[in-house]
Amino acid sequence: MLFIQAIDDSHGILPIGPALMQEPSIAIIGAGIGGLCTALAMQRAGLRVRVYEQAPKLAEVGAGLSLSPTAAHALNHLGLGEFLRERATMPEEQFARHYRDGRLLMLSNRGRSLLERFGERYYLIHRADLHGALAAAVHANDADAIQLAKAVRGLRRLEPHVEIEMADGSIETAAACIAADGQRSSVRTQIFSPEQPRFTGYVAWRALIPMEHLSALDLQPSSGIFIGPGHMVNVYPVQRGRLLNLVAFAERNTWTEEGWSIPAQRDELLEEFSGWTDTVRFIMMAIADGALFRWGLFDRTPLERWTEGHLALLGDAAHPVLPFLGHGAVLAIEDAVVLARCFATGESIPAALHRYEIARRERARFVFEESRKAVRIFHASDPDRYSRSVGNVTVDEGLGLFAYNPVNCAI
Ligand code: FAD
Repeated sequence: MLFIQAIDDSHGILPIGPALMQEPSIAIIGAGIGGLCTALAMQRAGLRVRVYEQAPKLAEVGAGLSLSPTAAHALNHLGLGEFLRERATMPEEQFARHYRDGRLLMLSNRGRSLLERFGERYYLIHRADLHGALAAAVHANDADAIQLAKAVRGLRRLEPHVEIEMADGSIETAAACIAADGQRSSVRTQIFSPEQPRFTGYVAWRALIPMEHLSALDLQPSSGIFIGPGHMVNVYPVQRGRLLNLVAFAERNTWTEEGWSIPAQRDELLEEFSGWTDTVRFIMMAIADGALFRWGLFDRTPLERWTEGHLALLGDAAHPVLPFLGHGAVLAIEDAVVLARCFATGESIPAALHRYEIARRERARFVFEESRKAVRIFHASDPDRYSRSVGNVTVDEGLGLFAYNPVNCAI
């Protein structure tokens, strides 16, 4: 159980600059995509970081990740643009199809027209590939930056420092602490809001299927969504077409299981999606034993404040969003770049963290709301109306989902 103790709330001023390149440094709790992006962004701004991860080894779940142009801008800025173009799949178009017969309802451009309009495009990547590249880049800058098997148990705010107590009894000191400890963030619960994550009524299954088991599949374009009443299926290739990523969503009244790696059976998925087009069922039937997982989707009410003194939340800890627009990791990546830019202003740490919060609040709230609206469209009771209604609520680029650049937005 995490404890937080504020010994002095005077928000002492520690100038940013050379002081942060030595001890104490910036502590980041959690080595997920948000924590590692933050570490890399801070290092590139010349700051010394320590990432404390509770897991004994670095790992990401086997699943795909779609990255929008805004995340691509951030990753270019972090020096990972070449990696992205080498390892990710770059879809030109994505489909929306009818659940029953698979007929095409809409094509959305994810390549050329986004490039022309927003200077970047969509990328589809294996989460472990991105996570591994981030960890390697952070490690190359500083071999001690990522500390594993370091579960944070408590924080003491001894302004102008933060003392971090680990479950193993060790204590670290940092000039600032960024909690990127995920959707179930204990730091958020303890300091910013006691409200617990709540079940949203949506459940999901995920699987990665070797493409060699799908040689009879004829999907043009190769990625997109199938929409139907109360359900949606999203498929896309990762690892340059070696694997097909599948995520299937349904609705439930209650959910009692923990985690997002609960083993599931192919038959339960086929039963849930009975009556769906042969294409979807063919993909589901190709899922190998042990390769299907399910989990319940939780969210938390957006916070008004997620920084305090020398402490800040980032990524899912600050603003978890439903995954229907595939924008949770995108927000975390954007956060990291904006946060490092705020640190580079040379203000005091509390001022830089406050600047970060203000710079990100509206964007995070916008994506949160759009992601909630999106599911009402994607789980359409009448998929034939999809093309008419979607423009008002979700993937309409004009609404600003892609019209944001963390590298040069106002801070
Ligand atoms: P996490 O990935 O949860 O990382 C938190 C880390 O903190 C973990 O490593 C954890 O072990 C560690 N930690 C926790 N507590 C402690 C502690 N006390 N001490 C030390 N370490 C601790 N987003 C997209 O952008 N595109 C997509 O296509 C997409 N698809 C998705 C599909 C699904 C079905 C779901 C559920 C989500 C999807 N997302 C997507 C959202 C995305 O996965 C998350 O938003 C993102 O992973 C959040 O990253 P994070 O680093 O903030 O948190």
